[in-house]
Amino acid sequence: MNAVVSFNPATDATLAEFKAHDAATIDQRLSRAASAQRAWARQPVAERTPLLREAATVLRRRKDELARLITLEMGKPLAEAVGEVEKCAWNLDHYAEQGPSFLADQVVASAATDSRIVYDPLGLVLAVMPWNYPFWQVVRAAAPVLVGGNGMVLKHASNVPQCAQALESVFAEAGFPAGLFTTLLVSAGAVDGLIRDPRIAAVTFTGSTPAGRQIAAAAGQALKKQVLELGGSDPFIVLADADIEAAATVAVKARFSNTGQSCISSKRFIVEHAVADAFVEAFVAGARQLVVGDPMQAGTTLGSMAKRNLREELHAQVLASVGEGARLLMGGYPVEGPGAFYPATIVDQVTPSMTMAREETFGPAAAILRVGSVDEAVEVANGTPFGLGAAVWTRDLDRARALTRRIDAGAVFVNGMVASDPRLPFGGTKESGYGRELGALGLHEFMNIKTVWTGPNRT
Ligand code: NAP
Repeated sequence: MNAVVSFNPATDATLAEFKAHDAATIDQRLSRAASAQRAWARQPVAERTPLLREAATVLRRRKDELARLITLEMGKPLAEAVGEVEKCAWNLDHYAEQGPSFLADQVVASAATDSRIVYDPLGLVLAVMPWNYPFWQVVRAAAPVLVGGNGMVLKHASNVPQCAQALESVFAEAGFPAGLFTTLLVSAGAVDGLIRDPRIAAVTFTGSTPAGRQIAAAAGQALKKQVLELGGSDPFIVLADADIEAAATVAVKARFSNTGQSCISSKRFIVEHAVADAFVEAFVAGARQLVVGDPMQAGTTLGSMAKRNLREELHAQVLASVGEGARLLMGGYPVEGPGAFYPATIVDQVTPSMTMAREETFGPAAAILRVGSVDEAVEVANGTPFGLGAAVWTRDLDRARALTRRIDAGAVFVNGMVASDPRLPFGGTKESGYGRELGALGLHEFMNIKTVWTGPNRT
């Protein structure tokens, strides 16, 4: 691929074309990043944290411009794009504040005079990232990587090249050493070679499960540390004693924000029979309030999907499920005209064997599965290869806590919407990936956790 094309999925207009980096440019950028990282690793953490704070300041100052870019390239409503940039700034501030304590030596008593765990950086971390939160996915990974003394080489999704370059400009403007955060404009085909490159020490990948398998294989072959954040088909379980109005209100946000294109969107709404009609009625009423349209326009709450082929895939999943016997309650047909718009869609009477229950639906379409008991709800929730997030709605918190341990997921939220938070670890199990981001654990993933033993031995 020689060109990387930036296009507006809401209008189908081409925004810009960039020449993909050739082998010589990639080589030069990797060398510059590697030498910047070596110097950065020698700086004490107290000298790194002010730069993270400065990057947060730059993001806040450039928030409107950057949010506009996000919306232009991937179609989410502008207000959501502003929220995304603000969350990135929060994450940088969080690691600026907590980095020193997360990285402090841990003294562990042993037979030595002194024995401790110290955290050393690994080197350059290759980040292969998706377009759905083009700023958040990257900054979520970059803040801990950078505060730990590592560098980052970003291969962003091909449809967000302007966001990729803007991210590099944010870190440069904040005063990070030149090249410490480097963007490569390359296709997916270049990733294998990058993983093999000796200047790359580790890989963090966020994206689909099939791509994750290939990256895991390449990183395994090269014996390089990897964190994989992959797809999800999160259950949203509504038990008979739940606050139905609250659950339905949150369900609308959990399924339709980011135009449904989130790994942790609730995708399967598993509802006990006793409250199913009431929940569905309130959920449909809430979804009808969503305003589909120009994502730049204030008041739009459902933007364009990011690519036409993704809309076709989602539509095929909806049609397949209806063909298998499910009942379409609203939406279900692409919006005619330019752009990749798809309306809020709710499909009822889905069973576990139907397409929308078996596959990840990456767009604004919700599947409702009605169940007869709590045990059946858990069985249906776990009946997928994925294990990213899950939500449980019930007024009985003791029961809820017990249920959280029975659900195969990296996070279970009780009476709330699954969301990432810089303070809490984030990641999946099963085919949703492995490793954790955020929190102290997310920082330690890309550190050499080194044991330092000083004698004499006292036993
Ligand atoms: P994707 O097709 O896997 O692409 C993600 C990134 O991987 C892009 O940079 C892409 O580059 C690259 N890529 C694609 N195929 C590759 C391969 N075979 N080898 C190496 N790199 C490859 O995913 P997407 O469609 O953009 O994103 C949606 C998926 O991401 C969903 O499954 C969603 O659930 C998942 N996701 C997970 C999380 C999480 O935290 N768990 C968060 C967000 C999204 P090109 O653009 O150049 O193809």
